[in-house]
Amino acid sequence: MIRSRAGLHAHEGDRLPVKIYAGLPAAPGVGIGRIHVYQPLPVLLEEETQRGDTSPEEEWQRYLEARAKVDRELQRLSEHASPLIADIFLVHREILFDATLSEIVRTYIDAGASAAAAIHQATTELIKTFQSLNDAYFASRSADIRDVGQRLLVHLGATPVAKQLTQLPPETLLVADDLTPFDTTHLDPAKIAGIALAHSAPTAHTAILARSLGLPMVCGLGNDVLEEKDGTLAIVDGGQGQLLVDPPPEMVANYRNAQERLHRSRAAAEEHAREPAVTRDGRTVPVLANVNHADEALQAVEAGADGVGLLRTEYLFQERIAPPTVQTQFEAYLAIAAQMPGRPLTIRLLDVGGDKPIPYVAQPVEANPFLGLRGIRFLLHHPELLRDQLTALVQLAQERIASELRILVPMVSLVRELREFLQIFQQIPGARECREAGLLRVGAMIEVPSAAMMAERMARLVDYLSLGTNDLAQYTLAADRSNSAVAGLVSALDPTVLRLIAMTCQAGYVTDTPVAICGEIASDPAATPLLLGLGIQELSAIPPAIPLIKQAVRHCDLTQCRQIAEQALRSAQIEDVLRLLALEDAGKG
Ligand code: PEP
Ligand code: MG
Repeated sequence: MIRSRAGLHAHEGDRLPVKIYAGLPAAPGVGIGRIHVYQPLPVLLEEETQRGDTSPEEEWQRYLEARAKVDRELQRLSEHASPLIADIFLVHREILFDATLSEIVRTYIDAGASAAAAIHQATTELIKTFQSLNDAYFASRSADIRDVGQRLLVHLGATPVAKQLTQLPPETLLVADDLTPFDTTHLDPAKIAGIALAHSAPTAHTAILARSLGLPMVCGLGNDVLEEKDGTLAIVDGGQGQLLVDPPPEMVANYRNAQERLHRSRAAAEEHAREPAVTRDGRTVPVLANVNHADEALQAVEAGADGVGLLRTEYLFQERIAPPTVQTQFEAYLAIAAQMPGRPLTIRLLDVGGDKPIPYVAQPVEANPFLGLRGIRFLLHHPELLRDQLTALVQLAQERIASELRILVPMVSLVRELREFLQIFQQIPGARECREAGLLRVGAMIEVPSAAMMAERMARLVDYLSLGTNDLAQYTLAADRSNSAVAGLVSALDPTVLRLIAMTCQAGYVTDTPVAICGEIASDPAATPLLLGLGIQELSAIPPAIPLIKQAVRHCDLTQCRQIAEQALRSAQIEDVLRLLALEDAGKG
């Protein structure tokens, strides 16, 4: 990964100057398209911003009517919500009737704005003020103000934001401050050429989703990129982490050639993607898929996945206003299992917290959410959510569709948490029997340094371990995976993280417990020999990378892989590891 510093460079092409924004590579590939700067508030159409021949009093009345409608909407929503979610709607109703908000709206209307334009201005101003306070509590309130503003605007005829994202023209190059994982799931890969973000980081969930969707992405480009004009031709270079604005025709032609070459090498790997991946010395390495959404399961099968090594279930919990019932969950998991019968299916328990909140569970405002109630810690605080999910999974295991159903426990940091989890698991009707019959296996994610250090103890309690190197790198290197200022530090190839991976593999070896890896590094073919050399037995990668990873496994010889691993473990810094892998890659020639 190239570690350029974020910023803007001017580069004189033969005829036209090209503006180069340097950031961080977040998803590979080249995207060429026309810029669309995404506004998290609805874009107002001309007729919504113009007052026409109405008077300020009439516009004020329109505002009051929209406010009453939103109030009724929020009341209706809270009647059907759990007490925790009802609390959120209560906050939204308080914002709706907030005196400061109404005063600003009134001022703009009196100055000649339409009701919609006044709301747009007022909420944008308040959001800016809240964000400038640089306080986690006020920053999270600004999302609530945005939400209320959106509801008001939709009642005045504006297009909802999510709809904006689904209605973009083909070859759009999406530029935004940041995208939430929820925004990203609304993108249509057939229409989006690439994504360029002012902030965010390569290990944030948005980047993970972009990679799964096969969308080139760069991040950490800085605020200036948001000033670019809609419709300007630009190139996202996902390998170099650059956005090139207004490139000269020769540059566009060069990038189109690079796109072609990438397509050709992919096509060669895809020819053998459905065959097993066997090393030169005869070891079969299962290559499974990381799946974030039900739709991706089919993509994974087509890409040649030997099963699912990580199904992130957050999507099922996030896109709704109340938790999914056992039946809803069972049906959703069944639909995925049915896409690949007879193969292993690994379903990770809900992993919320950090950059993955869910709307209907009031989570305390945490100054450091990544160090707070995340993963299993959160589930042990909400055992009703845990029990429902486990019940759905046990029911699925009883259907015997997957060759083996595996449950993965996220963010374990203490042996005690695993014990508490197992106690709850064993109380679920049928759980113990399914596990004893080999229909259901329980695994722990190793993604916190403390878990890697206690991997041997953990391995004795569970049936397998899976390394989540995205979080393992963030926690080992004390660098927030979603903060563009330090994102360049977060790499699973850092020798510190490699040592923890080796420690986990050793724990697996002495306890005879299989060790898999599902962090993003498993999707990088250049890292495959190193990972196998460290003792990883199974890889789980994003669907588009599966053909390339299988191809990389076929080039491996385990004795050589172990030598590479030993050398990497002796490295003092990541640059040495990168050099070692680059040499190996060149050696294959
Ligand atoms: C990881 O941390 O490596 C992982 C696979 O989990 P997530 O990226 O969903 O946090
Ligand atoms: Mg993780």
